[in-house]
Amino acid sequence: MTVQQPKRRPLSRYLKDFKHSQTHCAHCHKLLDRITLVRRGEIVNKIAISRLDTLLDEAAWQQEQKEWVALCRFCGDLHCKEQSDFFDIIGFKQYLFEQTEMSHGTVREYVVRLRRLGNHLSELNISRQLLEEGFLDENLEPWLPATSTNNYRIALRKYAQFKAQMRFTAVQKVAVGAVTDIY
Ligand SMILES: [Zn+2]
Repeated sequence: MTVQQPKRRPLSRYLKDFKHSQTHCAHCHKLLDRITLVRRGEIVNKIAISRLDTLLDEAAWQQEQKEWVALCRFCGDLHCKEQSDFFDIIGFKQYLFEQTEMSHGTVREYVVRLRRLGNHLSELNISRQLLEEGFLDENLEPWLPATSTNNYRIALRKYAQFKAQMRFTAVQKVAVGAVTDIY
């Protein structure tokens, strides 16, 4: 009697089905239009996927699938491409999605703007120290790009709200920790 071999298919086939089965971005939950497949934080493009010819049975694929996520292009760019570390862009994005009522499009505008500004300031070698004290938009005023300056200012104010919220949450955590310590 021969043992029935489980059916095996190339990884690229599974991924194709996986891609078609994904309807919403794993990060921002936006309805997916153009899909970016990501494995362990790295974007894998169409051509690379077509070359993934390892044969897997269904069980092996179930394991492998845990490594993959489908993202919208915006989140793919944001999470997988190198960012200047001037601003905490990913934290900012999370904040806008979770703590404000902004639409996806508006969040995207804020994030893109701040990211652009971060790159600009990094290129100018501006000290991140300026983010620590006083008002962000005033501190950075001399270095804001000459075009769309007001838009950058607005984004900076929003970012300042995010930082304030972060500090507030940190203080709350310490306070809760202190109370737990007493009991
Ligand atoms: Zn997304």
